[in-house]
Amino acid sequence: MNWYELTTQETLKQTNSNAQTGLSETIAQQRLKKYGENQLTEQKQSGWLIVFFKQFQDFMVMVLLVATCIAAYLGEVIDAVVILIIVLINSLLGFFQERKAEKSLAKLREMATPIAHVLRDGKWTNIPSQEVVVGDIVKVKSGDRIVADLRILSGVQLTVEESALTGESLPVEKKSDAIKADQLSLGDQHNMAFMGSLVSTGHGVGVVVATGMQTMVGQIADLIVKAPTQKTPLEKRLQHLGKVLIVISIALTALVVLAGVWRGHPPYQMFLAGISLAVAVIPEGLPAIVTVVLSLGVQRMIKRKAIVRKLSAVETLGSTTVICSDKTGTLTENKMTVVELYVDQQSIDVSGGYSVSGQFTNKNKAALPNGLAKLLSYGTLCSNARWQEGTDGHVIDGDPTEAAILMAATKFDQNLVERNGLRRIYEVPFDSNRKRMTVVMQDEHQQHIAIVKGAPDILLDRIRSIELSGRAQPFDQVQRKRIEDQIQKMANQAYRTIAVCIKPVRASVTANHEELESGLTFLGLIGIMDPPRAEAKQAIEQCKKAGIKTVMITGDHASTARAIAQQLDLMPRSGKVLTGHDLTVLSDEELINQVEETYVFARVTPKDKLRIVQALQQNGHVVAMTGDGINDAPALKVSDIGISMGVTGTDVAKEASELILLDDNFSTIVGAVEEGRNIYENIRKFIRYLLSANTGEILVMLFAMVFALPLPLLPVQILWVNLVTDGLPALALGLDKSEKDLMEQPPRPVKEGVFARGLGFKIISRGLLIGMVTFVAFLFAYQNGQQSLEYARTIAFGTLVMAQLIHVFDCRNPRSIFDRHPFGNKYLIMAVLSSVLLLCAVVYWSPLQPLFYTVSLSLKDWLGIILLSSIPTLVFSFTKR
Ligand code: ATP
Repeated sequence: MNWYELTTQETLKQTNSNAQTGLSETIAQQRLKKYGENQLTEQKQSGWLIVFFKQFQDFMVMVLLVATCIAAYLGEVIDAVVILIIVLINSLLGFFQERKAEKSLAKLREMATPIAHVLRDGKWTNIPSQEVVVGDIVKVKSGDRIVADLRILSGVQLTVEESALTGESLPVEKKSDAIKADQLSLGDQHNMAFMGSLVSTGHGVGVVVATGMQTMVGQIADLIVKAPTQKTPLEKRLQHLGKVLIVISIALTALVVLAGVWRGHPPYQMFLAGISLAVAVIPEGLPAIVTVVLSLGVQRMIKRKAIVRKLSAVETLGSTTVICSDKTGTLTENKMTVVELYVDQQSIDVSGGYSVSGQFTNKNKAALPNGLAKLLSYGTLCSNARWQEGTDGHVIDGDPTEAAILMAATKFDQNLVERNGLRRIYEVPFDSNRKRMTVVMQDEHQQHIAIVKGAPDILLDRIRSIELSGRAQPFDQVQRKRIEDQIQKMANQAYRTIAVCIKPVRASVTANHEELESGLTFLGLIGIMDPPRAEAKQAIEQCKKAGIKTVMITGDHASTARAIAQQLDLMPRSGKVLTGHDLTVLSDEELINQVEETYVFARVTPKDKLRIVQALQQNGHVVAMTGDGINDAPALKVSDIGISMGVTGTDVAKEASELILLDDNFSTIVGAVEEGRNIYENIRKFIRYLLSANTGEILVMLFAMVFALPLPLLPVQILWVNLVTDGLPALALGLDKSEKDLMEQPPRPVKEGVFARGLGFKIISRGLLIGMVTFVAFLFAYQNGQQSLEYARTIAFGTLVMAQLIHVFDCRNPRSIFDRHPFGNKYLIMAVLSSVLLLCAVVYWSPLQPLFYTVSLSLKDWLGIILLSSIPTLVFSFTKR
């Protein structure tokens, strides 16, 4: 069946739907169950067995397995079995880490799926797009992705870009009329909108005729390949670092093996020891831990209401130097309320706040002017906000600015809107480039009137007359000055201002927007209050301390923006405000010069945002930029971190962004920056821990070989250290809470290497000391003569493990262990305690002793071990380097 051939009524009948009430929730659920979710079937995740066996593909693990086979062949069966078990446990850990990372990434993808605005049981509601079923009535607007195949029921300036399906990149206008034709190509089906296409302009309503794999894209879904997950710059850098470390580790291990053989150790013993050592010191797990820590950090961000779409954003967030934020809804509450009206040259205060009851009082203490009702009712007619039944009484659905006007009109007179008997025949929707909206209404005598509402300063040049006490007067310079003063007065109080104008027209002029919106008659001004968010003020303060500049970018009037900026303490006294008009006269170079001292950009269009981002980037800034509309996408893409709004944002903006704010709140951005900084610092912490531990391990072996001593640690002991001491505590460091002063440091330079700020020195110095104390412990115990070699090894083993387990607490701090409560990370405490328990098990539990070649130690031995093993941490805690 060709849906485009059916009339809207026939389509509704075929889909068993109703344009007024939509589907009932029960029927929708039944259809969902019967026909499945509205999604294109995704490629399957790799099965758990595959992920498990992937762990053995690691080159070093394979070498170790071969070495184990050789050991078994030579009769060292116990060694071989123990090594095998350790490798198996290691692979299991790797397996769980990878599954966890995969699962959390899948969850992230799920959270970023689009929302559909559907009519169910007579109410407009938002549902996840997967739950849309055939027969659902769906509302779409500029910036939305179409969630299923729709037959259009009505549209206002509705154009849709469907290049993915048709190859045609220009948007196509969509209408509701049936088309009688055979075999129409998709591009010619002007009353259909297909899943995945993009609404470029206007808005409309459609009925779903196909979902999921039944849609047009579904039928070619095989062509859609899942984009491979990209590695973040840090992961790439660490992968590279890993390769360098492999070479160094192999070289050092070879040195140990050669020194051992030279000093007369049996080659076979040195071979196995060398391979175990290589396995232990090669940080092959590093990239995996980084991914796990990144994705766990991302989950913490979700708790703070920020969804990361690309993992690389986490790092960039930590380097952010400027946050460019929209004003409305992000820095302000987006709870718009009309507080002042200006009509017939009089100002009227409106009380009652965000509710339907309140008082209208003339500032001149006189009676209310006659024009008031007209201003409010025409303002409401030129708006798409509607009252609808909500769970807690009546709620307003629609744009907050328009909702504020509707609320004020209702406050003035419940029946104001119904009474005027005008019917809308045409609409030019609001868009932030034009900053105005126009409708054409028809009365019962077929007379037409255009109502234009928009930013007053933008409309001033289009006004020819002003209505005073019901009569049109010429709009001369005196009148204009009076209105300008009034706009300024309202803006100074941080009010958003809207002018309402009218013009009698012939129906035929509708196609000519220029004619429709010029020669207007001014009715009055509406002043709307949108209070700044209390938490935004704190967050801006936090940004200042963290060396991050906050810039407000808004479509609102310069004075409104300045007043809000002052309420938020966003700019210093010397701070500048630039307007969209200023930007048009500034060259790129001039903008680059001025952008540093500018804190507010007002009356800008989305296009200007791109120039602002680029100017800031030219000055070396790392820019985070918010956006919600379809026109914001280019700026979001160019900025280092594009941030879109989860509630008010369009799908296009979300797709162009790296971060989505679930609550559209500025302070969430700052929270995400903090998490970003913390995750990066945590990654540095465990790199520091792992590498200094590995340095210690290799050095103790090297020292022993150079001094012609027996092996201080046996292969199974080395592998045990690698598994237990290097495993859990490192991961726990990755989950550390941020330091108190994390947001009092300047942003980290993007080009800064992982080892910057003294990390390299810390790794080598601590590693050297860990190696030395372990060696000294071994030497003492070995030369003690009365005891066995096993005893000396157990002492060395204990010292190495304890030195690392004490050092792990030091790794939480950039300076000294005394800077921070050492037991503030409960995961670390648990990890260290379990490592200590496992150490005790290996040392004291008789079934394990022969497997790990250990003997029981006395209390005196432990005192010595603790004393020696705390040296690496204590020494540097005093020097603070
Ligand atoms: P921000 O960038 O801070 O979010 P904004 O996006 O709210 O600001 P716009 O929506 O572009 O800015 O609004 C710019 C101006 O357009 C407002 O100051 C107001 O005068 C006018 N305006 C806003 N909404 C409407 C509307 N629905 N109809 C008519 N005019 C509007």
